[in-house]
Amino acid sequence: MSARVLVVDDVAANLKLLEARLSAEYYEVAVASSGPEALRVAQSWNPDVVLLDVMMPGMDGYEVCRLMKASPQTAHIPVVMITALVDQAERVRGLEAGADDFLSKPVDHTTLFARVRALLRTKQVLDAFRLRAETAKDLGFEPMPDPAKTVAGARALIATEDDGEAAGLSAILAEDGIVVTRAPDASSAWERLVTDDYDLAVLSLWLDDGEGLRLASRMRAQTAMREVPVLLVADLDQKSQVLRGFDIGANDHVLRPVDPNELRARARNQIRRKRYQERLRADLQRSLEMAVTDSLTGLRNRRYVMRHLEGLLRNGGATVLLIDVDRFKSVNDTYGHAFGDAVLRDVADRLRLHLRAVDVVARYGGEEFIIAMAPQPAEDAAGVAERLRGALASAPVQVGDTTLNVTASIGVAVAMPECSVDQLCGAADKALYRAKANGRNRVESAAPSDWALP
Ligand code: GH3
Ligand code: MG
Ligand code: MG
Repeated sequence: MSARVLVVDDVAANLKLLEARLSAEYYEVAVASSGPEALRVAQSWNPDVVLLDVMMPGMDGYEVCRLMKASPQTAHIPVVMITALVDQAERVRGLEAGADDFLSKPVDHTTLFARVRALLRTKQVLDAFRLRAETAKDLGFEPMPDPAKTVAGARALIATEDDGEAAGLSAILAEDGIVVTRAPDASSAWERLVTDDYDLAVLSLWLDDGEGLRLASRMRAQTAMREVPVLLVADLDQKSQVLRGFDIGANDHVLRPVDPNELRARARNQIRRKRYQERLRADLQRSLEMAVTDSLTGLRNRRYVMRHLEGLLRNGGATVLLIDVDRFKSVNDTYGHAFGDAVLRDVADRLRLHLRAVDVVARYGGEEFIIAMAPQPAEDAAGVAERLRGALASAPVQVGDTTLNVTASIGVAVAMPECSVDQLCGAADKALYRAKANGRNRVESAAPSDWALP
């Protein structure tokens, strides 16, 4: 996985050493020797990960990290802080500044590369979503507000063989309002994960004599769980398992004895990232939804129904009802355009109300609606159309204090073998035209002469 790594350190020798190691692993490397320079390069070069020295004259690493995480252009870039400080409080400070991990000097390269690979994997997923979110934004879809910074109410699963440890870890996470479920072995953990949604899984590597990693890898193979962050709890001498864990798809780890502040900081970072990812996914879902929805009526739009009809025809046939409101121009002329809009919404609501969920109701354009249904005998289709005509004609539309009788004419066509969407809609349109010509507020079915077959 080739990627861009920005290395930040005020000591030239440290920069050289890391740059050489990273280049040897085929990473693209840029270097910066001060905080302000790091921020500039992070903005302009768009790295995939930043390795950030903590102790620098002027602006220190914490400040650089905080500023990066506060800027929308750089907030998504993972940061690994590197320091000679071993003080636990310093590690937590880094994590709270938004760092994704903390490594101590001298840097153990195997650990560094395992961390970088894991962070890059997560970032790739996020990047794909961010790109689509950008596209949606360019198309005019407003993103939803950022998820809350608080993690209260998040759900975590703690899977450890040690009851005492489970109680301890639960108490630590509970301080942030995280709701914890405990599992004493891999199979009950799996059962919980399959049944419920979690925002975090905390797995002991000792689970079932070393099955913790197998559980992590099973989680990664399962679509529904792929995005649940995995935080490993390991002993100091389990370094190689932890590294393997990162390659399998674990997101983070803590070492025993677990420092409460560190666990909380790491849990928070993982949960926030998951929620951010969920928000991007929901945005995408919503923009897709909006792309196929008519904004005035909330019905499907023309683009959607045409595709839907293609699908129906491919699968053996379709029925189309074309509905055109009668003398609608005079409604606008008499009561104004806004009133006309309200009438169209009311018509849309009635159509929706009188059809089955499997039938697609769409706005075809202006004051015309279209209904796409499964193929059926022509008399049945005409029956549905008659019911809809009645639903419109039977009760007046009420907008504010004004009531108005609104009727519509309907053309019905059931697909002939091998016909196209255009031919089908064309036949329905001919029938609709006849309904207008024959006095409006009526239903007409397509006759053989209405079909323009090749
Ligand atoms: P007919 O019975 O022959 O269908 O007569 P009509 O007046 O309904 O037919 P025509 O197609 O001449 O007029 C349709 C009118 O619908 C003209 C247009 O201004 C109006 N219209 C189209 N889209 C909208 C809309 O989104 N809102 C409103 N208020 N009016 C619309
Ligand atoms: Mg019309
Ligand atoms: Mg009309």
